[in-house]
Amino acid sequence: MTSDQILMATETAHPTLRAAVSGLPSYVPGRRSAGADIAALASNESHYEPLPAAAAAVAEAAGRMNRYPDMAAVELRERIAGHLAVTAGEIAVGPGSVGVLQQIITGLCDAGDEVIFAWRSFEAYPILVELAGARPVRVPLDDAEGHDLDAMAAAVTERTKVILLCTPNNPTGVPISHDRIAAFLRSVRSDILVVIDEAYVEYAEAGSGPDSLTLYREYPNVCILRTFSKAYGLAGLRVGYAVATPDIAEGLRRTAIPFAVTALAQKAAVASLDATGEMQARVAVVQKERSRLAARLEAQGWTLQPSQGNFLWIRADDDLTARLVAAFDQADILVRAYQGDGIRITVAEPASNDRVLHVMEAVLAAHAA
Ligand SMILES: *Cc1c(COP(=O)(O)O)cnc(C)c1O
Repeated sequence: MTSDQILMATETAHPTLRAAVSGLPSYVPGRRSAGADIAALASNESHYEPLPAAAAAVAEAAGRMNRYPDMAAVELRERIAGHLAVTAGEIAVGPGSVGVLQQIITGLCDAGDEVIFAWRSFEAYPILVELAGARPVRVPLDDAEGHDLDAMAAAVTERTKVILLCTPNNPTGVPISHDRIAAFLRSVRSDILVVIDEAYVEYAEAGSGPDSLTLYREYPNVCILRTFSKAYGLAGLRVGYAVATPDIAEGLRRTAIPFAVTALAQKAAVASLDATGEMQARVAVVQKERSRLAARLEAQGWTLQPSQGNFLWIRADDDLTARLVAAFDQADILVRAYQGDGIRITVAEPASNDRVLHVMEAVLAAHAA
């Protein structure tokens, strides 16, 4: 090459993203929910402010932001362990349970390994799997919007490393029963990590989903994923955790970004655990509203599956989804739309829920007309 050609090549060459990254969808910022009249029902956050003890713990810890947090999160891990009657060695924390899930997938999967999950389920699943260079294997939900565990077991290959079970499932709200997961665990290889994502477990009625800790004690290839983001109301602080055998939990701690869980988040999570009773009282209100909303929607003529999360799922084709999105937009209500599949609406305080009922009734009336 002449020096001119070298110069040209140098000028036109540019850094490129890995294919796994350039293939990912861009993040589309949601409409700002700052307006007084906008009902933010798109992200399954708690509409309650943080528990008073958590807010106080954050205020108290804020004066020490010049210091790094405890990287091993010892106090928080011990408190979670005490809460669940396991040992701190079986707990790994991360920046939200999505952060912990990323540690799980990067910790267990080599390029080309397979991760099986239901679809539709949590949108973060395929993204984290592809980022790790692993292969997402989506198994369609059954007709009742729940996990098709037989089909998931049939999807296992020698490359399967991880299976994700989301109960209650986001976005459909349908739980997986204890007996069905137990039968599934008997049928899959014990070298596959079966992650039970229980982000909404606090909202589920007792007995509707699995007793995951009992399953974990019986099947060491079970990993439980929980978060402080939803019922505990700490979505903005980023803290979640996994329960797993000590060797897996230790591996997850090693793959963590150093200091990813801030001292504020650690303190708030500890304070929140101490206020579990207050959290449960709030959950009871949301459960009551969930029942009311579902019953009213059914009375209007909508069909929906009973939800065990703090949200409701309306299955809808492209056309209906578009009309629902437009109607909610018009009413300043943010909901989560999945084009071609339906919409998910977070259950919040009665006034917002009433606005939802109003929109849904109007959409149905317009449809009938
Ligand atoms: C919200 C959610 C999470 C938790 O996310 P964080 O990272 O803890 O905020 C995990 N799994 C599912 C299915 C969720 O819907």
